[in-house]
Amino acid sequence: MTVIPPRQETSSDFLPSGWDTQGSRGIALVVAGPSGAGKSSVIDKVLESDCSLAFSVSATTRTRRPDEVHGRDYYFVSAEEFRRMAGAGELLEWTVYHGRSYGTLRSEIEERLAGGQDVLLNVEVEGALAIQKANLSYPVVLVFLVPPSRAELVRRLQRRGTETEEALEQRMAIAEREIAHISDFDYLIVNDRLELAAQRIHSLLTAERCRLVRCSD
Ligand code: ADP
Ligand code: 5GP
Repeated sequence: MTVIPPRQETSSDFLPSGWDTQGSRGIALVVAGPSGAGKSSVIDKVLESDCSLAFSVSATTRTRRPDEVHGRDYYFVSAEEFRRMAGAGELLEWTVYHGRSYGTLRSEIEERLAGGQDVLLNVEVEGALAIQKANLSYPVVLVFLVPPSRAELVRRLQRRGTETEEALEQRMAIAEREIAHISDFDYLIVNDRLELAAQRIHSLLTAERCRLVRCSD
């Protein structure tokens, strides 16, 4: 059974002025890592066990998979609509991955973070780094999720059954390039068992909420 520590009182009057915990603000927890590592599965597990968290639903021009739902997994939009969103400044960051566009909607995160809610994001590595550099006025935590081995990554992609052999090889090649950016990340989680990986995400969220920060008086 997963035991989730309740969110602590954000502050205490015992603290000298100008100090607070990071948990008094919403935290953007960005999960990146190779396609097939289990980002969606782990995030779903974390969301299932903690309804105080929100998920940032991205926009994409890729085709919907049979088990995916518009508005839950992604906003599936046309290339034209995606260009409009980017042009109108609605996207915090966006990228082209394997020939399709993917982008984070400001409307999915900014208001929630301002309201003190933590938001989980599932993006590829460039997107994670762009969010880190976007100078959001909220804490951004970058988590890299890896499978226990390369062979297991291939098995997971094959078992998911969503990629052709060629697309699978291209996703593996992207994964090899992505891992080179590991030093820019704050945490590494090995997704050996789903339940354990989800617990690790909870643990690091708890730790980040307790992080001491200087704030303006
Ligand atoms: P990603 O979002 O990183 O592309 P998915 O969440 O779609 O990855 O997972 C890829 C495949 O691996 C799915 O079929 C999923 O059920 C499976 N999977 C995810 N995590 C685990 C795990 N810990 N053990 C075994 N299979 C897993
Ligand atoms: P998939 O097609 O497997 O759902 O996603 C392909 C890749 O796009 C994954 O690495 C996923 O994390 C990433 N991705 C999904 N949404 C976004 C987004 O909004 N921005 C960026 N930069 N990447 C995203």
